[in-house]
Amino acid sequence: MAIPRPTLAPATHPLERLPEEWAEVLVSWGEPAYRGKQVFDWIHRRGVFDPEAMTNLPKTLRARLAEEGLGLPLSLGKMHRASDRTRKLLVRMDDGKEVESVLIPMLERLDPDASDEDEIERLPGDVVTQCISSQVGCAMGCVFCASGVAGLKRHLSAAEIVSQVLLGRTLLEGEERIRNVVLMGMGEPLHNYENVARALVLLTHPEGIGLSKRRVTLSTSGLVPQIDRLGRDFGGQIALAVSLHSVSDERRSQIMPINRKHGLGELMACLARYPMPKRRRITIEYTLIEGVNDSLSEADALARLLARVPAKVNLIPMNPISGSSLGAPATEAVLAFQKRLFDRGLPAFIRKQRGAEVDAACGQLALHGAAPRKKRGLGLAV
Ligand code: SAH
Ligand code: SF4
Repeated sequence: MAIPRPTLAPATHPLERLPEEWAEVLVSWGEPAYRGKQVFDWIHRRGVFDPEAMTNLPKTLRARLAEEGLGLPLSLGKMHRASDRTRKLLVRMDDGKEVESVLIPMLERLDPDASDEDEIERLPGDVVTQCISSQVGCAMGCVFCASGVAGLKRHLSAAEIVSQVLLGRTLLEGEERIRNVVLMGMGEPLHNYENVARALVLLTHPEGIGLSKRRVTLSTSGLVPQIDRLGRDFGGQIALAVSLHSVSDERRSQIMPINRKHGLGELMACLARYPMPKRRRITIEYTLIEGVNDSLSEADALARLLARVPAKVNLIPMNPISGSSLGAPATEAVLAFQKRLFDRGLPAFIRKQRGAEVDAACGQLALHGAAPRKKRGLGLAV
């Protein structure tokens, strides 16, 4: 069965071209169409951006490609490396704006983010998950999120999204390979749908980087029409993570303004129709905020809400952000919440704070660093 592919807007950067788009360009330069695949292979599969090193291409074409410019549209600003080998990359785009991306070695035997059939798989330390950004800042305004508080600066292009992985690959150590990519960095990926869709096609192209679609996870705060579109465009193959964070419409609207537009009923109906392959589950992200969404009755309600959707829950104790008094519950409360979900038959994992010492836990990607929490409490003001 043919896997659906979205109709894409035209490529705006050479690194965004698919093999057939390269072929068109090359034919217009008087080259044979088959060279399209060769150029794509050099860039995306082999990670070679210097046309002079593309040894199976004629000299004239290499010179023409050099004129075109195949360099990455971003560079590594800084890299912080934690003792668990988690690496936070500060990525600088050509206009000077910065986003973050994180390389996370999968060291645990049991991978909390893996799908059912993967959960028994043993992960060698050389398997890496890369967390990437889709926007500079974010327009969604979630009150517990540093990107949301900062507001949207701009969308990333498809080239900038893919280039985070092309750059990430150059920073791997030993036998490491990037097996999973999660769009959980800065930004709301579905608010930048066109560019993200092209990036997904590029990242999963079998002749390029070649990630398996089920190993690419898109995390969204719940933009219902775009979730439907993603499901249609990729036949449900792209793994979906949804930030829920509350089972009460009133509370969710307070902490996630998107809920005022697409409430819980609408969101849950949308998730129920996401065309997922059999035995796969939607990841429900639930950031635990003390006094806001961490009661055991909320856990009960969460289990009830998810009873009819194949789902697993990732609990993320909230990382403190600058200027907000919101914070994580005590560890015992987090464990009690998890246990309650388990008791209600819902698989729930607590997301480890990998790389926390370099302020690089996924979902903690900020325009400015996290500050120590001032006080704990119910106040929702930021
Ligand atoms: N915009 C998308 C993806 C990026 S955020 C989304 O919201 O899903 C990735 C995850 O980190 C989301 O579940 C988000 O709610 C969570 N997150 C954001 N700020 C956080 C914080 N301060 N502490 C813990 N998790 C946070
Ligand atoms: Fe945007 Fe996600 Fe942060 Fe909400 S949690 S503001 S959607 S990045």
